[in-house]
Amino acid sequence: MSNSPLPWQAELASAFRSPSELLAYLGLENSPHPACDGAAKDFPFLVTRAYADRMAKGDPADPLLRQVLPAAEEMLAVPGYGDDPVGDGAALAAPGVLHKYRGRALLITTGACAIHCRYCFRRAFPYADAQLHKSREDAALDYLAADASIGEVILSGGDPLLLSDERLTALLCRLAEIPHLKRIRIHSRVPLVLPSRIGAGLPSVLSGTRLQAVLVIHANHAQELDSTVDAALSRLRGEGVTLLNQAVLLRGVNDSVQALAELSETLFLQGVLPYYLHLLDKAAGTSHFDLPLAQALALHRELRDTLPGYLVPRLVREQAGQAAKTPAEFLAADSN
Ligand SMILES: *Cc1c(COP(=O)(O)O)cnc(C)c1O
Ligand code: SF4
Repeated sequence: MSNSPLPWQAELASAFRSPSELLAYLGLENSPHPACDGAAKDFPFLVTRAYADRMAKGDPADPLLRQVLPAAEEMLAVPGYGDDPVGDGAALAAPGVLHKYRGRALLITTGACAIHCRYCFRRAFPYADAQLHKSREDAALDYLAADASIGEVILSGGDPLLLSDERLTALLCRLAEIPHLKRIRIHSRVPLVLPSRIGAGLPSVLSGTRLQAVLVIHANHAQELDSTVDAALSRLRGEGVTLLNQAVLLRGVNDSVQALAELSETLFLQGVLPYYLHLLDKAAGTSHFDLPLAQALALHRELRDTLPGYLVPRLVREQAGQAAKTPAEFLAADSN
């Protein structure tokens, strides 16, 4: 009695699950490549075909490929890089609920993603223990209902848009019943990496409650934003969803003023405002993506001199124990 999968579920099921498969698809099977099987064992390889289709064939330095290809450097133990770089463990307020900042709380809705980004700060997150299982949903919602200072709930993960429309609808209905909640915010890479998920049903699920809906997508490079993404985003905009972007500053991906300016310009063409540009969270296995703070600040300064103010994302670092993300300008020059 299994239902046949929806088109986006079938697409996810046919995603690339090994580096060699993707490299062959890109015509890179014969070039010496840095893919590292040991790293892929630690944090499995996963890339949708929709995302792979935006990579340049035959280019081992493609900025999209670099985000997903396991590298030998991931196996290095580097001082200062650990398994809980942003203090999520200490911020777990109830099952599946991270409450760090005044006025907003974050729900870990699922551990699943539609792509595995090698720089991910939650790559070692204990999802099995911390995510919002259906059985624990009552406790999480009780926590939100009991704290009238919370006005906004962020659905995060993993990727909340991998939940079914039915599950999302049920969760949003329950949240809308909490009188002090005003907004629902969704953090998702799905509109980029699995645009077919943004089918007819989903946009109206997000607009179907009294809560104002904000969707923060995660694009790091203009090349990630093709016409299929544009079409998915415009369906969401059509339902009145406010669209923002967060990016991570990544060595070898977007560490130039030109790449960052093109990203902002392309986002705006597709109706998305740049929100955050994150300094890399120091998760174990990600140090090869990091940039020295002085270089990040210089890039950001030049970006400010290049773009209108509303296209310049805030350059920030998440620091454990702080009341908000810290603007990079406030970080000590030697903290790196
Ligand atoms: C980043 C983050 C938020 C959202 O912070 P904003 O500055 O409002 O975007 C909320 N909760 C947690 C746990 C976070 O890490
Ligand atoms: S949580 Fe976001 S950054 Fe991390 S692997 Fe999933 S999609 Fe990528």
